[in-house]
Amino acid sequence: MKISFYGAAREVTGSCYLVESGGGTKVLVDCGMFQGCNTCDVKNYTNLYFEAKEIEAVFVTHAHLDHTGRLPKLYKDGFRGKIFGTAPTLRLAELVLLDAVHIMEDDLKREQRAMLYSREDVEQTVKHFVTVDYSRDAMVGDLIGRPRDAGHIFGSAFWELEDEQGKRATFSGDVGNYGSKILRPTAQLSPTDALIVESTYGNRVHEDESTRETKLREVVKRTIDQKGVLVIPAFAIDRTQQILFELNHLVEKGLLPEVPIYLDSPMAIKATEVVKDYPQYYNKEARELAASGDDLFDFPGLKLTASRDESKLINDAPRPKVIIAGSGMMNGGRIQHHLVRYLSDPNSTVLIVGYQAQGTLGRDLYEGKKLVDVLQEKVHVKAQIMTIGAYSAHADQAKLVQWVEEAAEKPKRIIVTHGEEGAAVALATRFQQHFDIPSQAPHFGDTIEV
Ligand SMILES: [Zn+2]
Repeated sequence: MKISFYGAAREVTGSCYLVESGGGTKVLVDCGMFQGCNTCDVKNYTNLYFEAKEIEAVFVTHAHLDHTGRLPKLYKDGFRGKIFGTAPTLRLAELVLLDAVHIMEDDLKREQRAMLYSREDVEQTVKHFVTVDYSRDAMVGDLIGRPRDAGHIFGSAFWELEDEQGKRATFSGDVGNYGSKILRPTAQLSPTDALIVESTYGNRVHEDESTRETKLREVVKRTIDQKGVLVIPAFAIDRTQQILFELNHLVEKGLLPEVPIYLDSPMAIKATEVVKDYPQYYNKEARELAASGDDLFDFPGLKLTASRDESKLINDAPRPKVIIAGSGMMNGGRIQHHLVRYLSDPNSTVLIVGYQAQGTLGRDLYEGKKLVDVLQEKVHVKAQIMTIGAYSAHADQAKLVQWVEEAAEKPKRIIVTHGEEGAAVALATRFQQHFDIPSQAPHFGDTIEV
């Protein structure tokens, strides 16, 4: 089996691995978009490094754009095979791709920027979606693919691929963090010849997740006391539902006074509906809570603002208020309209709850920049910038090591991807030293024989 790395090699985004089985079957694991870098456009628009027509199937790990965003380009270039994923992943992926094409349509109107693909390409792509439940087999040529629960976002999977020569490779996709209130934990690793594992936080350790809800409660309370505005840039999928779940708990248990909380993201509103449709994917506690009749993502004070007009009305609403809006890295979307208004207000707070890639506004704020560009305006940052790292949907180094530690049998080799250079190399070194397993961080275009 041969694996070539055409994305997420010593960088976080653009996940796309070509797998060629011993019997000559060609498939991809993920076909994601490059995001948040100066060279990303070039990388997204350039020709694929393989013949799209020859690819027989794609195994999708989860719905995030950096794992699904180039599927319609693959279709446009001639791919007509099956696209496998769990039911929630494929529902969410459709939302993600339609949102991406919507942004492209806007860019075309505003800057005459060519679209990477059309709405029609997205509509055709989703016709190739084939759902596979966790631990069920998906067969393509001489390959068998099996999705297992990755615990990263709703529906997320790591894929085990096996060819007729018995060679096995396991693709982690993104591995979840501890402490999700909704998701089940990451499933145990089965024996494998090669583990291809992400390293977004490969050189970092998250803070303890047990204090997360307390911190969230404190920041909302402080906002209320100061009559400020709390802006939470949230990723539409997962992070938003985690936060809604915790706010639901805090409000319904009387631990927080009622305060207007706006979910100002059409995508997040739709994603929450998808999550509500699949309670069988919840962990035990969440499933029991849902079965008891509680709506896990709705509570007094929550207002959903789907339309632009509703969104604009948030400006006029009296303080205090909480606004949850996308994009999660603050480099686009409705969040920017709120940031331009509230970043310079010392009584307001921006709460960072997820990974901020290099080159994004979120990263600038995270790193403490005091003057930033938002919507072509220079804005002085006087609002408090706060981070709760424990909301991360990604495993940290300790969890990734623990995952391998708890494997039924240690992988024969480990290939570290999906992390910035330093993180990927640090994690590979850690695996090598801790387990004495040959470990490496491939470069873009490298091919590895398993
Ligand atoms: Zn992800």
